[in-house]
Amino acid sequence: MIITGNQLIGYAQSGDGSEKFIGPVADEAGVPYSFHEATFAEIDQAIHKAHTAAAPYKRTSYIKRAEFLEKIADEIMAIGPELITVTMQESNLPEARLLGERDRTTGQLRFFAKILREGSWLRAIIDLPSATNPAKGDLRQMQIPLGVTGVWGASNFPFAFSVAGGDTVSALAAGCPVVHKSHPAHPVTCELVGQAIVKAAKETGMPDGVFSLLHGISYQTGLQIVRHPLIKAIAFTGSFQGGKALFDEANKRDEPIPVYSEMGSVNPVFILPGILSEKGTELAKALAASNLLGVGQFCTNPGVVVLPDGDNTPAFLADYKATIEDASGGVMLTDNIYRSFNKGTEEFAHHKNVALLAKGKQLDKKSAAVPQAFTTTAANFLAQEELSEEVFGPSSIHITTENKEEILAIARNLKGQLTATIWGNADDLKTYSELQHILEDKAGRLIINAMPTGVEVNYAMVHGGPFPATTNGATTSVGATAIYRFTRPVCFQGFPNEALPEPLQNNNPLGILRQVDGKFTTAAVI
Ligand code: NAP
Repeated sequence: MIITGNQLIGYAQSGDGSEKFIGPVADEAGVPYSFHEATFAEIDQAIHKAHTAAAPYKRTSYIKRAEFLEKIADEIMAIGPELITVTMQESNLPEARLLGERDRTTGQLRFFAKILREGSWLRAIIDLPSATNPAKGDLRQMQIPLGVTGVWGASNFPFAFSVAGGDTVSALAAGCPVVHKSHPAHPVTCELVGQAIVKAAKETGMPDGVFSLLHGISYQTGLQIVRHPLIKAIAFTGSFQGGKALFDEANKRDEPIPVYSEMGSVNPVFILPGILSEKGTELAKALAASNLLGVGQFCTNPGVVVLPDGDNTPAFLADYKATIEDASGGVMLTDNIYRSFNKGTEEFAHHKNVALLAKGKQLDKKSAAVPQAFTTTAANFLAQEELSEEVFGPSSIHITTENKEEILAIARNLKGQLTATIWGNADDLKTYSELQHILEDKAGRLIINAMPTGVEVNYAMVHGGPFPATTNGATTSVGATAIYRFTRPVCFQGFPNEALPEPLQNNNPLGILRQVDGKFTTAAVI
């Protein structure tokens, strides 16, 4: 394993910056790995290189692009066990979790390769002049890439939402070169995965500059990327503060660009009376386990639980309390996240309208979170906005209600969420059908009778939601349709067949599914 601490600027490397920061782990000799802060000149160079690569990369065949993504997956696997070892040290995440996350990441790369080979993602649409109306134009639409994309990863998914994560893979699949801002919480992981992408790019003949990785612990590195006039889109995963800061900075640009910031969420869970009476204990244990999963460090962590009126609620809370008190949490991703967790839980603990329900065990380890749960009433929750803020980690607040109207009022009052969950039996779902309609407007993914943690990579997944879950609720950051964040439609009117891009040519040379005069078909057009 060779860690340079340099910027990867396309196929070149640069360590011009005199400023360095120390990463969280050391080499075998005990010397901490250190990383050059990217200089303004290096940032500019990486973005110019990406800009130069944009045109040839856009023209690279979809099959070649697919081979590039598959090769990235191979190269990540080829790093071998040392990738897992070092990421464990950098993130405090356990081996099994990281093995699974690496598989998810390589699986995601192969999934997008499959999408590129299949071709319907191009949304090829053809309106032909008709025999009855020859004056009607020949109009053909497809998706083309936006251009150079700046990407930021999050600390809690050092593979799946980082250098080769969902944002990078969907931008590359769309045909956009990527300039990735390395995460200072796992810079060795970032460099190793970045090297794997560069190697894959070289070996599959991609243009120099299709991918760059820039290190920086100062926010200036990221802000400089956002400000650069050749950047055409931003994809960020992380905290509300980070995502909103980049969004605000982008709005100061002369040329507006889309900013897809995927941020935090409290992922409300509504438990309805029927199901609570049927399986309250089971539910309390399962929900507490979901809240504790990965030391609560998932963006889909259930942080707000809404409970109905009735005798079963105190029993549910007693079961939840027992599960949390029995749990010992674990070491958090970074000292900063640990400090934020303590600040957030202390604010709840000292809030005059909040009661502590349960506190878990303290592990004798640095930065180990103590799981906590709180309770409040619907009236307080509705009146005090701070109670609906994300406390990233194993914390939850349970809201007791007095009637159905209060449950619906809480739903109506919610801000945008990544997920919203309803637990209910058939009668509950009928009685509370209004709840589903309200939540549809509040979240990117609605879940019935399952836990929100766990985000599958597939065709139908939506991992997004209205602000403040994201800065663009019209999109998803996970799943096949994540690609449309980095494309735009273009229409070719009256073009001779030979001048059309392949996806739109008469004989359908790619054999893809197209919409011709309103009907979906793979047939050629005459
Ligand atoms: P973070 O602190 O926001 O860091 C993400 C990246 O943004 C880092 O590179 C960070 O740099 C940078 N950054 C943060 N604030 C910035 C600012 N004001 N200006 C410029 N750059 C800034 O987030 P994290 O701790 O890595 O991840 C945890 C958070 O991510 C949680 O809130 C979690 O819910 C959320 N998350 C969301 C999703 C999703 O899909 N919506 C997925 C995973 C995690 P520094 O490290 O130098 O601060």
